[in-house]
Amino acid sequence: MADAPAKQERITDIGPPHYKKFLPPVIKENYGKWLWHDIPRPGVLVHCAESGAKIWTVRAGTARLLSVDTLREYAEIADKYCDGHLRFTSRNNVEFLTSKEENVAPLIEELESKGHPVGGTANSISSIVHTQGWVHCHTSATDASGVVKAVMDEVIDHFRGHKLPNRVRIALACCLNMCGAVHCSDIAILGIHRRPPHVNDENLKNLCEIPTTIASCPTAAIKPVTVDGKPSVEVDEDKCMYCGNCYTTCPAMPISDPLNDGLSIWVGGKVSSARSMPTFSKLAIPFLPNNPPRWPETVEAVVNILETYAKGAKDWERVGEWIERIGWPRFFRETGIEFTKYHIDDFKGSARTLMNSPAFKR
Ligand code: SF4
Ligand code: SF4
Repeated sequence: MADAPAKQERITDIGPPHYKKFLPPVIKENYGKWLWHDIPRPGVLVHCAESGAKIWTVRAGTARLLSVDTLREYAEIADKYCDGHLRFTSRNNVEFLTSKEENVAPLIEELESKGHPVGGTANSISSIVHTQGWVHCHTSATDASGVVKAVMDEVIDHFRGHKLPNRVRIALACCLNMCGAVHCSDIAILGIHRRPPHVNDENLKNLCEIPTTIASCPTAAIKPVTVDGKPSVEVDEDKCMYCGNCYTTCPAMPISDPLNDGLSIWVGGKVSSARSMPTFSKLAIPFLPNNPPRWPETVEAVVNILETYAKGAKDWERVGEWIERIGWPRFFRETGIEFTKYHIDDFKGSARTLMNSPAFKR
């Protein structure tokens, strides 16, 4: 048998190419030797290296689901001003990178003239990170890009400016599997199902493997049953958390329900460990109706929370830090959001997360 080629010589198509292949030359030359950075205007960052070399970053909002035409437009702009260099941030902004200061102003002008708003840095909101929605995913309880477009249209001034007490990260996930960052965002919009999956006994025996379907449920809510002498499954409604995992495994258990699906709003999450620990988002509004094409109830709810935070927070407080300082009762009072029984976690599997003490803390 011929010797296997040395590992480093093997060419594979597994995984993306190494990122260092695509770094702009000025970053390669000064790798690990950057001294300081500044934000000269909303949407623009400048980084300076020990050598004195500088790189300017111009950040623009994207629609996240990008057409080939838009990608070609980005590539042309990057070729014209940035020697072909651009990158995408984890929250769906596009950043154009140039070492030539004289390119910054015309680059901004061209982006704006083509409908790509520049902003999203420092004390602003950046693009809303979101999931697939009705465009692509089978378990979605709401659309993603449609809701995000409607919200962004209302809060665009906070994308273009630095008028907020601190940065505000908004996210949307179209079901609680949350491919978006709803668990760790200042304001999060989460699509929710409110009914367990519907079991289609007739199709199930032909479409699904029963053991795999039972194993797919994270809360052990599915058990095997016999219906009219044929094998099927049954869902324990008290244990079901409406995640839709079983529908991914078994197409005979659809979970979407136009009458009961909707959206919820969560607040106070963050990834950063500056000033306070990273936090998970907490429930603010348990249910809002799915109301396409502009989702007015959801847009109003997000704008209300954002503006109440902007008025009430001290400089540099994130949304969660502001709420913790004023207390949750005052958060509900100031935003006018109703506190309901749904804010109390009574899920059957939640014993470990419940406060096991008679002393309630305000
Ligand atoms: Fe699909 Fe849920 Fe992810 Fe949305 S959040 S893309 S519905 S798995
Ligand atoms: Fe289990 Fe989720 Fe299916 Fe409910 S929706 S039965 S929790 S897998």
